Amino acid sequence: MSKKDELLKKIVIELVSEEAIPIVEYLKGKTKISEFIVAEELEIEIHRTRYLLYKLLEHNLVSFIRKKDKIKGWYICYWDLNEEMIEQLDEKLRQQKIDKLQERLDREEGNQFYMCRNACVRMDFEKSMEFNFKCIECGEIQHPIDNSKTINFIKDRMKELEAEKSTIKSKVKKKTKIEA
Ligand SMILES: [Zn+2]
Repeated sequence: MSKKDELLKKIVIELVSEEAIPIVEYLKGKTKISEFIVAEELEIEIHRTRYLLYKLLEHNLVSFIRKKDKIKGWYICYWDLNEEMIEQLDEKLRQQKIDKLQERLDREEGNQFYMCRNACVRMDFEKSMEFNFKCIECGEIQHPIDNSKTINFIKDRMKELEAEKSTIKSKVKKKTKIEA
């Protein structure tokens, strides 16, 4: 499987579901495919096929045109896969993950956390104080804990995500250089 295919699969799973993968793979390299053909070829019920196509449409992973069927007289949607959206969506997902990690990091760095020696529940200062620094599970006293490992873990994960981002950017830059 090519890197691009892997990325496409990863994004479809993350944004829609694994169930939508056969549809995406079927549409790849084809143009303007009737939803009835998709349903028939993949043996997915037409309503389910449409549901999945519209889920993909929400993220611009596919697009469609509607045409009136001359014989039957009703409208049929013809679908295309928007492969050019993949990198953009990947970038968006990565940025969302980075933002979430930043929020977690702020919380970890801005608070003191407490836990009993049995490590039942982790609470921030205010929450622990509310329970008089007693564990709500076992009743033992909660002590301040060192969260530097958690902080480092979050920072490392953020660095990884940032690094992935810069590799993609440098690839894009290289491409434009060659074209110029
Ligand atoms: Zn406890």
